[in-house]
Amino acid sequence: MKIVVIGAGIVGLTTAYYLSRDGHSVTVVDGGDGAGLRSSKANGAQLSYSFVSPLADPAVLPKIPSWLLGRKSPLSFRPKADPDQWRWLFAFLKACRASKAQKTTAELLQLGVYSRSLVHELVAREKPRFEFGSSGKLLVYQDAKSFTAAQSQVEFQASLGCRQMLLTPQQCLEREPSLEGIGKTIAGGIFTPTEDAGDCLQLCTELERIMASRAQPVAFRYKTKVEGLRIEQDQIAGLRTSQGDITADAYVIANGVGAQHLARQVGIDPYVYPLKGYSLTYELGPDSQAPKASVSDLRNKVVYARLGNRLRVAGMVDIGDTTMSIARHRIASLRQNVGRFFPHLNPIGEPEPWAGLRPARPDGKPIIGATRFKNLWLNVGHGALGFTLAAGSSGLLADQMAGRPSQVPAAIFALKGIREHSVADASRRSARRSAA
Ligand SMILES: Cc1cc2nc3c(=O)[nH]c(=O)nc-3n(C[C@H](O)[C@H](O)[C@H](O)COP(=O)(O)OP(=O)(O)OC[C@H]3O[C@@H](n4cnc5c(N)ncnc54)[C@H](O)[C@@H]3O)c2cc1C
Repeated sequence: MKIVVIGAGIVGLTTAYYLSRDGHSVTVVDGGDGAGLRSSKANGAQLSYSFVSPLADPAVLPKIPSWLLGRKSPLSFRPKADPDQWRWLFAFLKACRASKAQKTTAELLQLGVYSRSLVHELVAREKPRFEFGSSGKLLVYQDAKSFTAAQSQVEFQASLGCRQMLLTPQQCLEREPSLEGIGKTIAGGIFTPTEDAGDCLQLCTELERIMASRAQPVAFRYKTKVEGLRIEQDQIAGLRTSQGDITADAYVIANGVGAQHLARQVGIDPYVYPLKGYSLTYELGPDSQAPKASVSDLRNKVVYARLGNRLRVAGMVDIGDTTMSIARHRIASLRQNVGRFFPHLNPIGEPEPWAGLRPARPDGKPIIGATRFKNLWLNVGHGALGFTLAAGSSGLLADQMAGRPSQVPAAIFALKGIREHSVADASRRSARRSAA
């Protein structure tokens, strides 16, 4: 089966990887210059399979006014005359219900666990050369009230099979001596040993190399922007691209924030909206006191990941700025957070700033699976968890396209109102049509 995957970010590349492992002839098409150069490039580097609770939670509602008013707050909002923004926000607020947040957490945890097993299998099998570590993740709380509230989430997640430990301030420092600078302010911590960290861009580049050097190589077509999909009855007949038409037997939309525009052209509304964020990458020297595990500063919503002799710091959510430009005041706030949290970081030189767009859905759940077009599939809307969930989502999609049962029930991430079908069904229908 000839399959075209649209998008060479981490989600498109893992999609291509599992489809080519199933023996399909796969082409990845991307409008940019190479693999992983958009949202996957310098993200927070966290493979945090157990921290999947969505942003849409009733606990965020009382915090929103102060976040929105403060220039340095983790979340900023720029209202625009953009119906997509308001529609997304309305759906987000509607999803901020305790029952909905708990259900979504339980569903995403299943995908997170599956993703972890696939990431480890991929790393062991392909031996990609990328910065990857399995040192766990420490959540640091600086106010007792939030720490107490977090304990009920730990209990809830334990009931779903998550292994997490509650730590005293002293135990936090024993585990991560680099936190000494803020030691007196720590109220407690939660440590999860099963979490990994990795350089997403390096993994993207490696996946491309691995797939391109297979006996049946995956083809990559860059600088090829998909402008539209040609519909013929209940199928996609081809792609209109900046480099001419491309045809295949099946198509997967996996192009991050670009998915909304493309899918909507054929009447599918995945509700994907860009949530901007920032990162800094520090080079560490012999005097640097940097964390070895991934660390999350819960007060400021900033995450830290160790990537060999570098430290990746990421955070901020800017709603309403859909550009990739780097806002100087947001980077300055992020740097201040780093200075307060790790006062003895002592990096070498200046950190590298980056801005990216999270392809976010209001309820925090990606859409993975079939559409009403028999040969069109979606793997979109992974928001703040695209790196974490890419392998699991793509494994799940490949299972569905093959008509195989999967470890994660496909219905959880299905587009509403769509019945499951497989590539084999589409292929049979297409053969019947040609014969007629
Ligand atoms: C600041 C920040 C920190 C983050 N931290 C983490 C983290 O720690 N852990 C985690 O799991 N996730 C994190 N994320 C989220 C994660 O980076 C994203 O969810 C993930 O990269 C999305 O991958 P993607 O492949 O869907 O999209 P992308 O990586 O954006 O790839 C989409 C590709 O599609 C191409 N494309 C778009 N439109 C078209 C078109 N019409 N035709 C052809 N090609 C097209 C683009 O050129 C691009 O290459 C973070 C995101 C940000 C912004």
